[in-house]
Amino acid sequence: MTTAFSPRTRTAAPDPTARSARVIVIGTGFAGLGMAARLKRAGMDDFLILERADDVGGTWRDNTYPGCACDVPSALYSFSFALNPEWSNTYSPQPEIWAYLRKVAADEGLLPHIRFGCTVEGARWDDDRHVWTVETSDGSFEGQVVVAGLGPLSEPSLPDIDGIDTFTGSIFHSAQWDHDHDLAGENVAVIGTGASAIQFVPEIQPEVGHLTLFQRTPPWVMHRTARPIKPLERFAFRHIPGALALTRAFVYALRELTAVGFTRRPSILRRGEKLPRAHLHAQVEDPELREKLTPDYTLGCKRVLLSNDYYPALTQPNVTVETSGIARITPTTIVTRDGAEIPTDTIILGTGFHVVDIPATHTIWGRNGVKLADHWADSASAFLGTTVDQFPNLFFLVGPNTGLGHTSIVYMIESQVNYIMDALRTMDRLGASTLEIRAHALRAYDEEVQAKVARTVWNTGGCQSWYLDDKGRNSSLWPDFTFVFRHRTRRFDPSQYRITSADGKSVIVAS
Ligand code: NAP
Repeated sequence: MTTAFSPRTRTAAPDPTARSARVIVIGTGFAGLGMAARLKRAGMDDFLILERADDVGGTWRDNTYPGCACDVPSALYSFSFALNPEWSNTYSPQPEIWAYLRKVAADEGLLPHIRFGCTVEGARWDDDRHVWTVETSDGSFEGQVVVAGLGPLSEPSLPDIDGIDTFTGSIFHSAQWDHDHDLAGENVAVIGTGASAIQFVPEIQPEVGHLTLFQRTPPWVMHRTARPIKPLERFAFRHIPGALALTRAFVYALRELTAVGFTRRPSILRRGEKLPRAHLHAQVEDPELREKLTPDYTLGCKRVLLSNDYYPALTQPNVTVETSGIARITPTTIVTRDGAEIPTDTIILGTGFHVVDIPATHTIWGRNGVKLADHWADSASAFLGTTVDQFPNLFFLVGPNTGLGHTSIVYMIESQVNYIMDALRTMDRLGASTLEIRAHALRAYDEEVQAKVARTVWNTGGCQSWYLDDKGRNSSLWPDFTFVFRHRTRRFDPSQYRITSADGKSVIVAS
């Protein structure tokens, strides 16, 4: 029994034909690039990055729908090691975020490590050799460690509506926008009223003939405070040391205050509902439409959306907000539950992503051939959202209970990356070949998280959301301040892990 990799065996950029590396990183979104950049900066060059597309960027590469922008302030939406003084707006548009990620990949020297067009089809742990074999559309790769930066928003969720396959018009998802398709003058149906739909609906409304918006649940919509960054501000960000970092810290602190309402005192949010209610009243005069657009659950239970042009678009004469639900789809129409038949040329699905039912879990096999989807059959859980028992040397980024409702996911990613870097250093220090979270440590952690999440607005606010899985369990969101997560992930604690050396027998008792 030998391990195929010893720590720090290579220091240069990888051989472009290499099929193995100490660390295999999956994905080039914020998660994968953040991990890879830290490895590179630490001189741990023995890593490969597998990317299914032909460019980096993850969700910010894929989502190109009109109006796509970030609803987290620009000041927070970058890596701490690559602050960006060049944002044009206090809330960045998608093309700028994608360009930023491409620049980070190039500046950090990550491009030679990336295998583009390489779709991961499965990963299997070999408990004899202590390696992961990762099967891809471009053959297999081996790594001692796998870091999965798959992203919760990478697999579009397509609704299972009776007759949808028979539709003869055009149909596409917001994350796979068909830019060659001309919507001018068409009867367009939009299904969904989430974060994506509220951004593209105002953009397409002026050009379409008629837009029918199928709303299942109205979102809470707040005023969006976005504004262009002033030249003086940009000058300060570029030239005054600390100006950007200080702004970031200030915005971070303001955002973190709102976590009190989300995670501890939903009653604060209920009082705060007067703001979005006033926003709705100011923008929609028609009481009947207003009634349709008024949520009946606590603010924050679903993601709070920011827009100044969504409601005005819905008041236009070429828009109908349809709330009676979809009974079925015919080749040329959508039939509602109350019997109306709506002629439709194009259907745009703003129906979100597979967040709690990640398809990749069906293709990851750990010790003794256990499949992750089976292991997580009751519900997903991971220690610090990162490690899972029976899946040694596998680290998730943005794993279970690391999502956020109030601030930037990049902060959580960097916290997890800190933790994984310390895990790798610990392996080096101990001469370890495998790390596996102890089942009881994960259980205790999960019970703690679930006890905390039970009091949050996401669980108590009276809504159905994708934050909850089909058992009604919230395995998506971090139920506390993000600095608490940063503190918990600052150091890898070997005592929580089963650690073996290369012979697979000796259990290293952690100091
Ligand atoms: P989403 O928030 O999951 O919204 C999906 C919408 O589709 C909901 O209105 C949902 O209704 C509806 N829906 C789903 N299945 C349906 C069905 N079978 N029939 C009718 N309606 C259906 O998806 P999203 O808008 O794409 O956003 C996903 C996430 O992406 C967001 O929550 C956010 O985290 C992220 N995002 C972020 C930004 C950003 O600026 N940072 C921008 C866009 C998206 P129900 O509410 O009734 O379930």
